[in-house]
Amino acid sequence: MELAGGDGVHLVDTDGREYLDFGASYACVPVGHCHPDVVSAVREQAGDLLYVQASYPTATRTATYEKLGAIAPGSLDNVWLCNSGTEAVEAALKFARSATGRTEVIAAKRAFHGRTMGALSLTWKPKYRAGFDPIPRGVRFVPYGDGEALAEAVTEDTAAVFLEPIQGEGGIHPASVDYLQTAREATAEAGAALVCDEIQTGLGRTGQLWACERAGIVPDAVTTAKGVASGLPLGATLCADWLADGAGNHGSTFSGNPIPCAAAVATLDTIVDERLPEHAAAVGSYLRSEIEAATETHDLPIREVRGAGLMLGVQLRRGANRVLRELALSENVLALPAGRTVLRLLPPLTVTESDADRLVDALVEVLS
Ligand SMILES: *Cc1c(COP(=O)(O)O)cnc(C)c1O
Repeated sequence: MELAGGDGVHLVDTDGREYLDFGASYACVPVGHCHPDVVSAVREQAGDLLYVQASYPTATRTATYEKLGAIAPGSLDNVWLCNSGTEAVEAALKFARSATGRTEVIAAKRAFHGRTMGALSLTWKPKYRAGFDPIPRGVRFVPYGDGEALAEAVTEDTAAVFLEPIQGEGGIHPASVDYLQTAREATAEAGAALVCDEIQTGLGRTGQLWACERAGIVPDAVTTAKGVASGLPLGATLCADWLADGAGNHGSTFSGNPIPCAAAVATLDTIVDERLPEHAAAVGSYLRSEIEAATETHDLPIREVRGAGLMLGVQLRRGANRVLRELALSENVLALPAGRTVLRLLPPLTVTESDADRLVDALVEVLS
């Protein structure tokens, strides 16, 4: 299969076969493939200006700062732009180290924060770490979801705590409201930064613009990337004033490149104007209950469905890879794995209930 085109929630291969895309390339396509506003913004920008150094202001970069600042949780309106998720995490790590003057960092078991050396030091899975010793030291891993263990680990030596509000790569594990609130309290008390990695959970996917909002907390920094520019290379670190003071001489040649910024402005406008967070909440809860109902009716080998909004993990009683292959080959439906036995659903936020029905029918076909 070789892909040739995308339109909304569908992808088309070179043989003209159409797929329903419930993976959206790891949440990189929140407003759907080739959204007309995004495509025309990119075309127009490409004709005007492809690149200019980051120290010169441009209309699209300024607009990206403003739009991200406007939707940022609390007053996290200091926006640092980069080119990927891992760089957004690196920036948060450097800002926290520099602003606190401390070196110790805490992350969670099963966490995924990226693959460059700093972000890799916060990524738990041995598969990603193997072969790269010595990995930067100073990171302590605590069990995800255990508030007591976290509160105990955070001390006056802690520069930052990094958490995904719902662990994505680790298997779609949502944090409880209590856990996130404990993380907020413990870090505030110790003068450490709480960084929520919302690269997968952000931009409306879980039913709110940011998943940390579900717990009513405002972290000191939020990272975003993946879908922020509809899959064009853009990442951002949104941070509080005191953390931004640690930005010092951090920089990047491509920071705020006009093309990804043009795509980001159109993407963010669409998410806000079309109320996609509310839509994701509604269709997500429909999808979840339909999968649960089908599991009962057809006695499917499904242990549970986890997550929020349109970030769902279907815990199977069998390996996910074969199920995914069959979904693609015989049902023309694309989804993702998250570990060995979890099927991960991260569709465009524009999917409808009838798309959800088609996914459930396909699951029933493949699993029963
Ligand atoms: C994908 C992801 C990253 C890394 O982003 P890249 O753009 O691949 O570097 C970091 N954190 C989370 C939670 C992610 O899902």
